[in-house]
Amino acid sequence: MKVELLPSSIPATDAQFLVSFLVNDEVAIDAGPIGLMADLSRQERVRHVFITHEHIDHIATLPILLENVYSPGPDCVELLGTEDVLDFIHRDIFNGRVWPDFFALSTGDDRFVRGTPLTLLEPVVRAGLTVTPIPVAHCVDTLGLLVDDGKAAVAFPSDTGPTDELWKHLAAAPRLDAVFLEVSFPTMHADLAQATGHHCPATFAAEMGKLDRDVRWIVVHRKARYADEIGREIAALRLPNVELVKPGVAYEF
Ligand SMILES: [Zn+2]
Ligand SMILES: [Zn+2]
Repeated sequence: MKVELLPSSIPATDAQFLVSFLVNDEVAIDAGPIGLMADLSRQERVRHVFITHEHIDHIATLPILLENVYSPGPDCVELLGTEDVLDFIHRDIFNGRVWPDFFALSTGDDRFVRGTPLTLLEPVVRAGLTVTPIPVAHCVDTLGLLVDDGKAAVAFPSDTGPTDELWKHLAAAPRLDAVFLEVSFPTMHADLAQATGHHCPATFAAEMGKLDRDVRWIVVHRKARYADEIGREIAALRLPNVELVKPGVAYEF
């Protein structure tokens, strides 16, 4: 399985402002910077976009992606998320003001987009990947995703603070190679992390203790302003198997 966190700064650096993972080039998890990929053929290869929640850093360029890859005909991007999230995206973004209503414009054999609601804990199979949505603990309803290709499995908890159901599910998964877990805030903003459903280094370390498996822990979602400080604090904890994500790098699992 190939996993890439798309860069979201110009020029591309390790700073992460927005969130999009590409899995095997065909499946996207969240639509932060995805519509900004200069190589349009890469955008065209993306057929399924899972949206973990409606926050703007996770949906920012969804309208641009759908615009960029549209071609007349029945084939289109499939958008997968909870019924609520699909509804928010339709009503608040594709509402005929912020952006044209691509849902209403998708009729019969000419489509911009197709929405598929996800049900918690019910896996779907897309492009050879089994994707299981698991609720996590953010300030809005948010899905963590477990992605399994039959040989490797990777967890994308998305934005979350301390949670339990996810770890129970991952403990029981047939395989698990890596977890892309967020640390949004440094210790000095631990209160803010708690209030907004995010992690600081201490709660990240506590979450690691909830999963008794030998996996790679890859830190994502460091708020750019605090990225260096979070990196130093994580390093000082000397946690095993923890690394900072490198945007733009193709990870193989
Ligand atoms: Zn969020
Ligand atoms: Zn976020």
